[in-house]
Amino acid sequence: MKIIANETLYARKCLEQGFIDNKKPYKSIRTVVRYLNQVQGMDNATEIFKVVKEYVDQTEREVQFDVKVIRQMMNEESPYNELDYVYISKKELDLITNNNYPHSWKKILYSMLVTYKVKNAIFQVNNHRVDAEMSIIMKDAHTTLGVDKREEMLAKFEEDGLIDMPNGGKQSKYFYLNYIDDEPEEIGIIVEDFDDFYLYFEQYVKGGRLINCSECGKLVLSQSSTCPERYCKKCKKQKELEKKPIAIKDSSKGKPRFTNKLLLDTCTQSYQLFEITTEEEYRLMQELNNAFGEGVVGGEKVFKINDKFSITTLNGKFTIMNIAGQIIDEVPIENFQKRPRVTFEKIKKIVK
Ligand SMILES: [Zn+2]
Repeated sequence: MKIIANETLYARKCLEQGFIDNKKPYKSIRTVVRYLNQVQGMDNATEIFKVVKEYVDQTEREVQFDVKVIRQMMNEESPYNELDYVYISKKELDLITNNNYPHSWKKILYSMLVTYKVKNAIFQVNNHRVDAEMSIIMKDAHTTLGVDKREEMLAKFEEDGLIDMPNGGKQSKYFYLNYIDDEPEEIGIIVEDFDDFYLYFEQYVKGGRLINCSECGKLVLSQSSTCPERYCKKCKKQKELEKKPIAIKDSSKGKPRFTNKLLLDTCTQSYQLFEITTEEEYRLMQELNNAFGEGVVGGEKVFKINDKFSITTLNGKFTIMNIAGQIIDEVPIENFQKRPRVTFEKIKKIVK
């Protein structure tokens, strides 16, 4: 959708998830600026610049902007959009679905309707007119059609009385939708997520359960109602990668190799700093790092290093114990903080 229906939700997504519009990064920056200014009440352009700079750096995109640009964005007069939802009525959904059209066509009718409803809600225009930007409408519908198919579809929609196209469709800049229910009696869909609104329609047609990804909040349609998915595709993949074992191969030939690309950077860093050459050493390093974090807040945690030894964090110390629970050695966590490599080497020798 061209319009950002809810600028607060959009800006939070940018700031919390590091999202930035690939094609139009300024669209994202502008919304973040407006959110900080109008919702968070920040009115100093330099302060806003700092926050936005940090956000953009985090996205790793190269975007040029300065305090002057921020000030211009702050001074824009256009109203701030905070639309919570739009309704699609049962009658509208019947008009979209009770036909022999391919599913992709139905999705496009739905996408045009939601686009119109958002525009209507924000600008209070009740003219049933929607911009004929098919590329955006199709993208929102998560479907693609070639130019020929698209024309065939629009001609059929017009023939069936669902839309009107000025100039007989030739380079129409907009259409009129004839399937809008101005006095809805029964609500079919409530659209609250304007990014992935096609999913509400998919659920309406195919069933399943809509959930928010527990990692990033993205809307997900789960086909299983008994054991629904918890993550979106992207986060699921990430989670699976994280779970994969880190296999270090060929350590005899100098630099070890890792099969888990995600952890390569971390591994490489540890490898260089601590001269880690086996998976066991890498795991020990990970455990010490974890324990160090816990140790600082004073918590107690037990890590099994191998079949013979475990490490406990207690009273600010790494306590190394054997399987019988006998204390073999103790190393202050502080030491690890100050001289991690020496501490690591020492513990490594003990547990070998
Ligand atoms: Zn996710």
